[in-house]
Amino acid sequence: MTGTPANLQVQLRQRPTGVPGDDCWNVLEVATREPADGEFLVRNRYISVDPAMRGWINEGRSYVEPVAVGEVMRAGAVGEVVQSRNDQFPEGCCVSGLFGVQRYALSDGKGVIRVDPGLAPLPVYLATLGMPGMTAYFGLLEVGAAKEGETVVVSAAAGAVGQVVGQIAKIKGCRTVGIAGGPEKCAWVTGELGFDACIDYRNADLRAGLREHCPRGIDVYFDNVGGDILDIALTRLAMHARVVICGAISQYNNMQAMKGPANYMSLLVHRARMEGFVVFDYAKRYGEAAQALAGWMQDGSLKTRIDEAAGLETFPATFRKLFSGENFGKLVIAV
Ligand code: NAP
Repeated sequence: MTGTPANLQVQLRQRPTGVPGDDCWNVLEVATREPADGEFLVRNRYISVDPAMRGWINEGRSYVEPVAVGEVMRAGAVGEVVQSRNDQFPEGCCVSGLFGVQRYALSDGKGVIRVDPGLAPLPVYLATLGMPGMTAYFGLLEVGAAKEGETVVVSAAAGAVGQVVGQIAKIKGCRTVGIAGGPEKCAWVTGELGFDACIDYRNADLRAGLREHCPRGIDVYFDNVGGDILDIALTRLAMHARVVICGAISQYNNMQAMKGPANYMSLLVHRARMEGFVVFDYAKRYGEAAQALAGWMQDGSLKTRIDEAAGLETFPATFRKLFSGENFGKLVIAV
């Protein structure tokens, strides 16, 4: 490629209150520059749309610095190197990194990995072979320490992380129960992914469902949503249960104080523990997880559902789908 192509970016215009509206974003064309020595230019093909992005646009620092107003929105992405002055990332190779919600990204290679589109479709590197897959693997097996014969319950079971958690649990010989919103998601989780049961928390009595499907209690509750669902799951713990705090999406747009668990004394009664984690802490072991996950994908025991939106301009509405539950599988934007 010669010359510098025009870039399209989604920038943070203002910080949201509650669910981020269209007015939080600017979608605009900007110029790109040629890569300097050691840099390369990536043509993004798929942008990852993740619940964590909601935390990144709040004012306060959490486990990473917030995105500044006026900055391009931070996001994971996969794409192709189209100009390069970096030998490790030559023109034509495919890469994954924090390239942002934009068509083109300049990078110096820090935090970037090469990916092979011959082994798996590119969006899968943002899903099962990317951050959500790593989260499921380490969250379930390290933090949750799930073992054969135990009962694992996972919320947001048809989502990016949840679908992988449940399938790994099945592979490891656990009784696996999902919690998801709507009959279509529940039917897919049991029919296609082989979970033992899935409770439609929007239309059924969750408490009764957990009683029915977890007769010996819950050994590992992998929590993606927090709020009332966490509170109800706490009432069904088995002795020495592990509650894995992966996320609390039901609370991310909460304008009042975050709702914490009222039923936490169940931890005492059942000698259980509740532990949070951030996937980045396992970065040094991503290779180990990727190998296991790729192996299961190859032998057909691990499937990936991708929910693909088209066009960067859709980012504001696509992002909101995570909070209404309209996404079905790992949400990405094809650029
Ligand atoms: P996802 O499950 O693909 O999408 C979010 C899903 O959350 C929605 O589809 C919806 O599913 C459910 N949801 C949204 N609002 C809800 C509410 N008010 N109550 C109950 N469920 C609600 O997202 P993901 O990328 O896999 O992330 C899942 C969770 O993991 C998030 O909390 C995220 O922050 C967390 N996470 C943590 C780490 C870490 O390192 N700790 C890393 C990655 C992700 P239903 O239609 O089924 O309700």
